[in-house]
Amino acid sequence: MIPIIYTPEEWKKIWLHSLKSNKIIGFVPTMGALHEGHLDLVRASIDTCDLTVVSIFVNPTQFNNQADFEKYPSTLSADLDKLKEEKVDYVFAPSKEVMYPQPTQINLDFGPLERILEGEFRPGHFKGVGLVVSKLFHMIQPHSAFFGQKDLQQVGIIRQLVKDLSFSITLRIIPTRREKDGLAMSSRNVRLTPEGRMVALLLYKSMKVAKSELLEGKNWFEVKENVRKKFDLEPLARLEYFELVHPEDMTIYSSFDANKKTSICVASYIGDVRLIDNLPINV
Ligand code: AMP
Repeated sequence: MIPIIYTPEEWKKIWLHSLKSNKIIGFVPTMGALHEGHLDLVRASIDTCDLTVVSIFVNPTQFNNQADFEKYPSTLSADLDKLKEEKVDYVFAPSKEVMYPQPTQINLDFGPLERILEGEFRPGHFKGVGLVVSKLFHMIQPHSAFFGQKDLQQVGIIRQLVKDLSFSITLRIIPTRREKDGLAMSSRNVRLTPEGRMVALLLYKSMKVAKSELLEGKNWFEVKENVRKKFDLEPLARLEYFELVHPEDMTIYSSFDANKKTSICVASYIGDVRLIDNLPINV
């Protein structure tokens, strides 16, 4: 059985012991319902650290939509099997009471970064992410922490958090793992209907088409309009944004410049499942 830690006090003993033996601790925060994308982060930690701890906690404060929180998949026993297979050292699975023993009064503000894209469509989301990641960083005190490029804006938020609060933690960002047909792996994909699963490909396909059209010199306004039309034709899809951004500070561009670092970011509902994805053009 893989050792499961439920409280920071239990973890602190292991932490002290591993520091005495000069072990480098790698940390992978997750909300469970693990797939190969999560496991890529886990493998990167195992490859580069002496001890890997994976947290599983579905964080209520980052859900701006109660139904989304309630429908979030939970597969703890399958998750534990997967982590055991990868030879993860510890799983940290705190309860809500451990993470939030009292209503939080602190209000983290990430400035402009939390008000655009995901921040605009999911108000308060990044405050919740920042809060839970700060708490987890304080509790686990790892040397390195692993995050997925799949959540590009979240990476920007975590970078800002680490700098602003002086966490002495190295961030490692791992590329997006996709299904064979290109759909980015996500815990939410299991909620797609068979028809929705086909329509969901529109996110990746439209980013790929947009990227090649932009590199051929097509105007961004036209490219974006064509994408919007394709989403409009699909009754199951409801596009929230399709934007060109700077992949680090997430500044939204109004035109494409091949000399500037650029990624495409997309968010769309497919039925009642909200999916996000991004594709680097120049990074
Ligand atoms: P979540 O459980 O969705 O909060 O994700 C936990 C971590 O896994 C985050 O750092 C995500 O960015 C990362 N992640 C989620 N999906 C993927 C994917 N398809 N490829 C790589 N990393 C991912």
